[in-house]
Amino acid sequence: MSIPSPHLNVRAVRAFSDNYIWLIDAPRTPGRIVAVDPGDAEPVIAELQRTGASLAAILLTHHHADHIGGVPRLLEHWPVPVLGPEDSRIAPGIRAVHEGERCELPDLGLSFAILQVPGHTLSHIAFYGHGAVFSGDTLFSAGCGRMFEGDPTQMNASLTKLRRLPPDTRVYCGHEYTAANLRFALTVDPANRAAQGYQREVASLRARDLPSLPSLMGLENQVNPFLRCDDPTVAAAAARHAGRALEGPAEVFGVLRAWKDQFR
Ligand SMILES: [Zn+2]
Repeated sequence: MSIPSPHLNVRAVRAFSDNYIWLIDAPRTPGRIVAVDPGDAEPVIAELQRTGASLAAILLTHHHADHIGGVPRLLEHWPVPVLGPEDSRIAPGIRAVHEGERCELPDLGLSFAILQVPGHTLSHIAFYGHGAVFSGDTLFSAGCGRMFEGDPTQMNASLTKLRRLPPDTRVYCGHEYTAANLRFALTVDPANRAAQGYQREVASLRARDLPSLPSLMGLENQVNPFLRCDDPTVAAAAARHAGRALEGPAEVFGVLRAWKDQFR
């Protein structure tokens, strides 16, 4: 019998125009922090100085500069382990982690399963544990990342992997895109009551300049069209948009992603 883990204490640090760097309080060592995707060092340093905390480890989901750019400077201040995907585009010295193994930080009381989620980039990974998933730019709330390196079959499979996580999983993604994503979601599926309600909630949070995140996997499975490519309503909307019959969820995904790329 598994014992439910208590929720992590996670804070959002903003970077650039709409990135979030997630700071996880290490459960076993108060005052020690794990940073996820520190694209910029300065806001992390400022937050740690403000709270008197120190950095204990860095987790990376993928190689894009807005997710790894702050690593060298953070390592000058705190020479800590960096765990991330196997990818030569990430500076040497990081500990590569792969699906099937766990990212274990026992001193800190943290342990994550690694999910290989190619599509946005080919080596993209997600960290899942303690009732939370750090999904980088693969899964956004009500949307998904652009498909820079993978194909629709790969990215649809990656999102299918994520949607099987327990519904109460908190979803910490890399960008604040939720409001724009919901406009698209409600264009695809205008009668979606869950998405309508969520849009009002997100508008209220954003009006107060609060993050819309974390989301919950159960909610994402209701509102996120990219997680519902096998849903008849979403599939029919994609087929109407494409003007042809579509064969299967991966093709529906490909049409939705291309549609969203053009959507304003
Ligand atoms: Zn990215």
